Amino acid sequence: MTGDDDGIDGASDPGALAERKMRFLFALRSHGVTDARVLTAMERIDRGRFVTGLFADRAYDDTPLPIAHGQTISQPSVVGLMTQALEVGPRDKVLEVGTGSGYQAAVLAQLARRVYTIDRYKRLVQAAQEVFDALGLTNIITLAGDGSHGLPEQAPFDRILVTAAAEDPPGPLLAQLRVGGIMVVPVGQSDTVQQLIRVRRSETGYEYDELLPVRFVPLVEGLGRE
Ligand code: SAM
Repeated sequence: MTGDDDGIDGASDPGALAERKMRFLFALRSHGVTDARVLTAMERIDRGRFVTGLFADRAYDDTPLPIAHGQTISQPSVVGLMTQALEVGPRDKVLEVGTGSGYQAAVLAQLARRVYTIDRYKRLVQAAQEVFDALGLTNIITLAGDGSHGLPEQAPFDRILVTAAAEDPPGPLLAQLRVGGIMVVPVGQSDTVQQLIRVRRSETGYEYDELLPVRFVPLVEGLGRE
């Protein structure tokens, strides 16, 4: 948890800072992020901590931005909508596949009991871990590996969030979802036509819901090169 962290730093003009913060939250709301817990979590977690270098001053724009290894930090309103669709509760154990910058995991960590986050790039995972340490987020466990196989040794999960696009919801992840659990995953055959899907597991099977069109980098099997 971040305690009193007010969410956005790095700007010396308090008026400009307040305006950027207001615009950030307005963009979330106007895209349909209305869950108060999600909005509070996103107000607390400073996206500026997860965007470095050239793009740092665009951290509060509602846009995806490049991070290392040709990957991206997702658009804040999409992070908000995915988090909202996941209906995370305070007792939940969550798996995120695709740590990237770590921003989404940090938001989830405000809402869940524990978050496991995995990425195929070890260096992304290390950089995210450093930010989690600096923010005092102790309920996130980071792992480097191929998340398309899930994390069988920690399964089942109450919630699973995949932040890279798969051709279909990966079978091992479906199997690692607890009965009553929810998985949110972008699905599509190309990088231009993808749908965000919500999967609910019941006693008798899986129910699928199409939420919105999205555009994510692909879920790739195997480990990334350093
Ligand atoms: N959630 C991230 C954030 O908040 O910054 C954004 C994730 S980025 C859109 C997608 C990430 O998925 C990339 O960092 C990529 O390396 C990762 N990825 C792709 N295939 C993967 C796999 N099989 N296992 C684990 N991570 C994977």
